[in-house]
Amino acid sequence: MEKTVITFEGEAVAVYTLNTVVVGTGATGFNAADTLYSLGQTDVCIVTNGINRGTSRNTGSDKQTYYKLSLAGNCPDSVGAMARDLFAGGCVDGDVALCEAALSVRCFYKLCSIGVDFPTNRYGEYVGYQTDHDTAGRATSVGPLTSMHMTQQLEQQVKAKAIPILDRHQVVAVLSHNGRARGLLCYCESAVDRPRYAVFNCQNIVFATGGPAGIYQMSVYPESQTGATGLALEAGVIGRNLTEWQFGLASLQPRWNVSGTYMQVLPRFVSVDDQGVEHEFVTDYYGDSARALSMIFKKGYQWPFDVRKIDGSSLIDLLVYRENILLGRKVYLDFTRNPLDREPVWDNLEPEATRYLQAAGACFGTPVERLLHMNAPAYELYLNKGVDLKKDRLEVAVCAQHHNGGLDVDVWWQSNLKGFFPCGEAAGSHGVFRPGGSALNAGQVGSTRSAQYIAARCQGAPSPATQLLQDCGDQIRAKWRMAEATRSNTANTKEWIDRVRADMTRVGGAVRNPQAMQTVAQNIDHMLTDFGKEVKTNDSVSLGEAYRLYDMLLTQRACLTAMLHFAQHGNSRGSALYSRPDGQLPPGLPALFACLQDGDAHAGVIQETRYDPATGFQCAFRPVRPLPEGGGFFETVWRSYRENKNID
Ligand SMILES: Cc1cc2nc3c(=O)[nH]c(=O)nc-3n(C[C@H](O)[C@H](O)[C@H](O)COP(=O)(O)OP(=O)(O)OC[C@H]3O[C@@H](n4cnc5c(N)ncnc54)[C@H](O)[C@@H]3O)c2cc1C
Repeated sequence: MEKTVITFEGEAVAVYTLNTVVVGTGATGFNAADTLYSLGQTDVCIVTNGINRGTSRNTGSDKQTYYKLSLAGNCPDSVGAMARDLFAGGCVDGDVALCEAALSVRCFYKLCSIGVDFPTNRYGEYVGYQTDHDTAGRATSVGPLTSMHMTQQLEQQVKAKAIPILDRHQVVAVLSHNGRARGLLCYCESAVDRPRYAVFNCQNIVFATGGPAGIYQMSVYPESQTGATGLALEAGVIGRNLTEWQFGLASLQPRWNVSGTYMQVLPRFVSVDDQGVEHEFVTDYYGDSARALSMIFKKGYQWPFDVRKIDGSSLIDLLVYRENILLGRKVYLDFTRNPLDREPVWDNLEPEATRYLQAAGACFGTPVERLLHMNAPAYELYLNKGVDLKKDRLEVAVCAQHHNGGLDVDVWWQSNLKGFFPCGEAAGSHGVFRPGGSALNAGQVGSTRSAQYIAARCQGAPSPATQLLQDCGDQIRAKWRMAEATRSNTANTKEWIDRVRADMTRVGGAVRNPQAMQTVAQNIDHMLTDFGKEVKTNDSVSLGEAYRLYDMLLTQRACLTAMLHFAQHGNSRGSALYSRPDGQLPPGLPALFACLQDGDAHAGVIQETRYDPATGFQCAFRPVRPLPEGGGFFETVWRSYRENKNID
C-alpha cells in the first residue's frame, strides 16, 4: 500500500493506492482480510469507522447460534440437504445457497482452529442442536456471545499478519466509473486524524459494513452499528430483497432479545400511558388468562414476528406494537409480579407449556423466581448490564434485528459493480426465512469466496491516483458540496436522525401501511433534495453524523421503494405485515393490522432495487437462480481445478 498526501480542490487528502480495501471490522471483514493474505494477496488493508463497532463484536442472544453442516452422531446430512434448507427460505439464489452449504465446514473448522471454542463431546464430535428452519441439528454455539468470540479470534489473525487497520475512517462515498468500483472516499471525524479526508484507490473493495441498522429507531442492533448500504446503492450496486427484515421483541436498555426463558417464565406485560396509568394489555386483550399465558410462553421459542402466526404467538408482537407505536405508551416486562397478580393455574395452560414448566420444576412463585430457577445466567446477564429484574422493569418494543436482504451478489460475492464484493450482512443472501445462525455462516463463506476470487482473478495495482481523481472527481466534489452546504453555527443532525428513524419504525417496520409509507418516502425525497438546507452542522462530529444521515436516508428510500413496490404486487410474508383494508383481522385489533398472507406466491422471485440519479430507485422482480445439482465426476472436476482452481 502506498500513501501520499495531495491537495484536491484546496483540501488536503491522504491517498492510499493498493489492491484491495476491506471495509468493516466485524467477523466478516476480518475474515476477508485474513483469507486474502493467506491466499497470497498481501496488498490489503482494512478500513473501519470504529474497530470496536458493529454487530458481530457487540451483540448476542440467549445462545447465539452458528449454523453449519451437521458433524456429529448418526444424523444424516449433506451439502445438498443443507443447500435445500437455505434455498427453502424463499427468494434465495440456489447457487449462492449451495456455496453457503459447501463452504460451511471449511469456514467452521477455520474458526475452531483459530481458537473459537465450539463444544465437542469426548469423542471430538461437534454436537449440534436444532434451530428454526433447520432439519438436521446443524446449530452450535459458544454461548451468548458467539459472534464476539469469532471477531476477537479473527482480529488476532489479522494483527499477527500485520495487515494495516485504518480506524476512525468512515466511508462516505463508493467511487465508481463505467460499471467498475474504483475506490472509496472516507471522512475522519476525529481530530487525531489529519487530513480529514482519505481516498482509497484500489482494484477491489470487500464491503463488510454489516446490516443498515441505523435506519430504525426501535432496534436490537448495537447502537454503534449503522451500516452503509445506501452508499453502495448510490454507486450503482443492485439491492435485493430489501423488504425482508426480521423483527422481534427486545429490551431497549440494554438492547437484547427477550426470547427463550425470558418469555417462558411468563412475565407480566404492562404499558404506561402519558397519564401514568398502567394497562395490563396482554391479559386484557385475551380475557382468558390461560390463553394469554400460553401465547407468552410460545413467544419464547417463536421469537421473530411472523405474519403466519398472527393468530398465535405473533399476536403478542402486534399488541406491543399497538401500545407502543399506535397509542404512544411505554411497554415493560415486569418479572416481579405474576400477570393479574395471581399465580398461573398451571394445568390450564396449553399442554406443551404445562409439560415444560412442570418438567423444569418451575410451577411456582413469581416470574423472576422462575427465571432464577430455570436460567440464572439469563437473570445475571441483565444484572451485569445494570438491570435487576428482581426490582426493575424492562422496557421493550418490537425491534429490527436482522436484514435478510441487502446487496446483490454472484457465487463469488461480486456485485454487478465489478470489483465490488458485498459480504456478511451487507450482502442479501437470505430470503424471507433463514435458519437461525445462518447469518454468521454466510458472513464467513462470503468473505472466503470473495477472497478466493480476488486472489486468483483480480491481482495487481489499480491505475494511478491521478486517473481516479479524473474519473471520479465529480463524485468527491458532490459530497464536499453537500457537506459545505450544511455548515452553520448550530447543529441539528441528532434531531434529524431521531426523527427519520422514528418515522421508519412507524411506517416501514413490522407493520407497513402503503399510504403512510408513501408520505414518509416523499418526505425523504424532499430531505435528499434539500439536504444542505435542512441539515445543519457546526463541527467535525456533526459533519460525521450528517454523512451517516445521508446514507440512512438513501437506504430508507430504497427500502420504502421496495416495500411500496411489493405492496402493489404481493401480501404479507415473513416478518412484514402489509396493511390492506380488505384483509383479515384478528378480533378486537385496529384496522391497520388487517392483512392477507402472501404464502409462497413470490418465493420464486427476487425483488431487485436499482438507483438512477435521474429517476431515483426502481424495483423489478427476477426469477431466483435455481439450486444447482452440485457434485460432479472427480476426474473432470480435478482437471479443470488444475487449470484454474474452478474459479471462473
Ligand atoms: C441481537 C442480535 C442477535 C443475533 N443473533 C444471531 C445468531 O444467533 N446467529 C446468527 O447467525 N446471526 C445473528 N445475528 C446477526 C449477526 O450477528 C450479524 O448478521 C453479523 O454479526 C454481521 O456481521 P458483519 O461482519 O457482516 O457486520 P458487523 O459485525 O455489523 O460489522 C460491520 C462493520 O462495518 C463497519 N462500518 C459500517 N459502516 C461503515 C462505514 N460507513 N465506514 C466504515 N466502516 C463502516 C462497522 O464499524 C463494523 O466494523 C444477530 C444479530 C443481532 C442484532
